Amino acid sequence: MKLLEDKIKKDGLAVNEHILKVDSFINHQIDPMLMQEMGKDIAEHFKDRGITKIATIESSGIAPALMTAVAMDIPLIILKKQPSKILNQDLYQTVVTSFTKETNYELTLSKKYISDNDHVLIVDDFLANGEAATAALRLLRMSHATIAGFAVLIEKSFQPGREKLLSQGIEVYALARIAKMAENYIEFV
Ligand code: 5GP
Repeated sequence: MKLLEDKIKKDGLAVNEHILKVDSFINHQIDPMLMQEMGKDIAEHFKDRGITKIATIESSGIAPALMTAVAMDIPLIILKKQPSKILNQDLYQTVVTSFTKETNYELTLSKKYISDNDHVLIVDDFLANGEAATAALRLLRMSHATIAGFAVLIEKSFQPGREKLLSQGIEVYALARIAKMAENYIEFV
């Protein structure tokens, strides 16, 4: 998506060859019009596929996921992070390794909000190693819901996330794909 690539070139900050900061328009401050356009783009790509719900991982996936849910007029479910395992039979739970924080956390989903009748599109801000996305898939599959695909604003294509999802039969739709980064340098696929 040209709009997002232009914004990344203008306001994104490549900290080093691995980390891109987009705090001024995605992660900390949000550009609402850009976010809305990105939600519409994802909704258009996945239209007419019988999708019943959008799912995302809290917290930076919520903005793009909500905009997609608005454009598709379907509910958004937020997979919630908890620091440690709590025993609760009303929840599906799985462990995730965090890329940015280098810690483990528990991802949870209430059984109330998902069923085997659901066909779910997962939306997130970044795809890097695919750990968060894989955990989301694991969690959603516990409910026997089916997965329509994974949509992401920014894919770092030099990391293995895309391959990891494709190898599990999941379609990946990325609005911007970064081939290479270095300090203050960004190259798109
Ligand atoms: P993964 O599990 O694919 O390795 O990482 C996914 C999560 O890590 C994303 O949802 C995002 O929150 C965070 N993340 C990964 N790479 C970056 C990055 O370069 N910049 C920012 N801001 N977040 C990232």
